[in-house]
Amino acid sequence: MRNPWQKELWRNLGLILAGLVIGILVGNMALGLLVVLVIYTGWHLYNIHQLICWLREGRKFRPPEARGIWDDVFENIFRLQQRNRKRKRELRSMLKRFHKITVALPDATVELRSGSDQIEWWNNAAAKYLGFESPRDSGQRISNLLRYPAFVEYLHKGDYDQAIEMPSPVDENITLRIRVIPYSGNRRLVLARDMTRMQKLERMRQDFVANVSHELRSPLTVVSGYLETLLDAGAVETEFAGQLQSMQQQTERMNCIVDDLMLLSRLENEVPHPDQQAVPVAALIDSIIGQGRVLSGTAEHTIVSDVDDALCIKGSESELYSAFSNLVFNAIRYTQAGGHISICWKLIDGEPVFSVEDSGAGIEAHHIPRLTERFYRIDTGRSRASGGTGLGLAIVKHVLLRHEGELEIDSEPGKGSCFRCRFSGNRYIDCEQSKAGAA
Ligand code: ADP
Repeated sequence: MRNPWQKELWRNLGLILAGLVIGILVGNMALGLLVVLVIYTGWHLYNIHQLICWLREGRKFRPPEARGIWDDVFENIFRLQQRNRKRKRELRSMLKRFHKITVALPDATVELRSGSDQIEWWNNAAAKYLGFESPRDSGQRISNLLRYPAFVEYLHKGDYDQAIEMPSPVDENITLRIRVIPYSGNRRLVLARDMTRMQKLERMRQDFVANVSHELRSPLTVVSGYLETLLDAGAVETEFAGQLQSMQQQTERMNCIVDDLMLLSRLENEVPHPDQQAVPVAALIDSIIGQGRVLSGTAEHTIVSDVDDALCIKGSESELYSAFSNLVFNAIRYTQAGGHISICWKLIDGEPVFSVEDSGAGIEAHHIPRLTERFYRIDTGRSRASGGTGLGLAIVKHVLLRHEGELEIDSEPGKGSCFRCRFSGNRYIDCEQSKAGAA
């Protein structure tokens, strides 16, 4: 096909020629050209009118018949329209598919209106778990329908990194994990997942560990009691004395593991005491250092401390003792004889911080995220030989969780490690003030 502009150019030349011929015939060139110009402009105006009518009508499928450059214009617009129609059809079917998927999702999904907490839309699972009814609840504020205080606070706080758990308003035996997902500027999606089964399994696991450790307790006490009596009384021949001593050591180790398992179960299951005391951490550290020196024994580690005596913390004394002593005893056990251990307790940026730094073997970076897992050890043989249960740092993690604290670990192989417990500023209390309050 020839270029339409070329055709149009020839047409124009033809018209000018016709105008000139008419001009010669009527003896007035300008008149001849004017007649041609009027006809040409009229033709364009007619086609523009056709185009406007066609576009305005919208539904008419085929473009109007036209000639010359206008045929090309109509054809191109027609092709563009076809392409747009096809894209619209695809988008519509995609939207339908997406809608069907969201409706069928097992998790409750609620869409909130832009910039507000009014409900725009929800799926079937939201009706099941949150009790929403259509059309009654459409446009209602979600905080009016889900009045659970933790949810209302979470929704309004705007920090959606963590999920929260709450009972379903339909059935309080169902536990829901709620997560708000902000998207596209100021729109939000509220997702709720049924966690009842997971919670049940978790409770079964916790009960199992608590029961097993409790049940092991009595036979272990009996065995270690008899072993002690036998060794004390010297009732066995010397050839068995070695084996008996080894049996006693292993029973002691099992006792330690059972103790730690029971402590972990308590930390997981028991609700922290609401009325927490001001714990005199300085005295706690003194006692831990004393025991640390005994543990160090002939290894003669240098243990130094920098402790703020006036800095107390609200919490449980026995739990904090377990956490801090685990960190100090680890530093001693994993640092070579004569090594240096530094213990620090002070306020940093308004937050109470307990840290233990050692000049030990250090830890490779890839181990660090897994250290607080139960029974995770870098060197199993060394941990066992040094009397470790593999549960120390898991205990530290749980104690800190119950005290609004976080564990930070910095370590470099060959240089040593630093374990830092950073508590929330809310926990800080002046020891003198707390004594005066108590008096
Ligand atoms: P364990 O009873 O085996 O010491 P923990 O949970 O207390 O168990 O510690 C887990 C592992 O972390 C240990 O096995 C040890 O490899 C490593 N670890 C803990 N503290 C230190 C430390 N101060 N220096 C080097 N490694 C450490």
